[in-house]
Amino acid sequence: MSPSTLAGAASAWIGLGANLGDARTALQNALRALAALPGSRLVQVSSLYRSAPVDAGGPDYLNVVAELQTALAPLDLLHALQAIELAAGRERPYRNAPRTLDLDLLLYGEQSIDGAELTVPHPRMWQRAFVLLPLAELRPGWVTPAQLQAVAAQAIERVDAPADWAG
Ligand code: AMP
Repeated sequence: MSPSTLAGAASAWIGLGANLGDARTALQNALRALAALPGSRLVQVSSLYRSAPVDAGGPDYLNVVAELQTALAPLDLLHALQAIELAAGRERPYRNAPRTLDLDLLLYGEQSIDGAELTVPHPRMWQRAFVLLPLAELRPGWVTPAQLQAVAAQAIERVDAPADWAG
């Protein structure tokens, strides 16, 4: 479904990461799955970034941030994200284990949610360069220079512009 606006839809921001196997293809497939969610439209996708794992070992991650306009309620969206992760073969043998696909709901409109299953804004998003750099690329006014400065020590590089990787 790809109308330019969706009645009752909210703008949801999703952080995508992958660091096992063919991470680039995993992200491309995940974007396709996001775009195919009911009542949802993929609005924009950031450049592709490569980042070193935070608080974890394993290979570097590939990361992007995407904006999804969606009529799904926040918890329904979270469950849809988890289903996409599972379909990508994600296992959780231990905390912060390498993953074929990790999807985080970063922001959902202007809502603040503090539930047992879901916290929005995502509680760790402001400490992560792999969220803040792609988000600042798409919404420069949302990320302050001080916030970028605070994550400046984290190893991250921009790999490809959106048109070169997301297709
Ligand atoms: P992770 O292993 O980092 O993907 O964390 C997944 C867990 O975080 C799940 O149990 C979710 O219910 C919970 N969670 C809480 N808030 C969020 C959020 N904003 N986005 C994704 N997962 C969340």
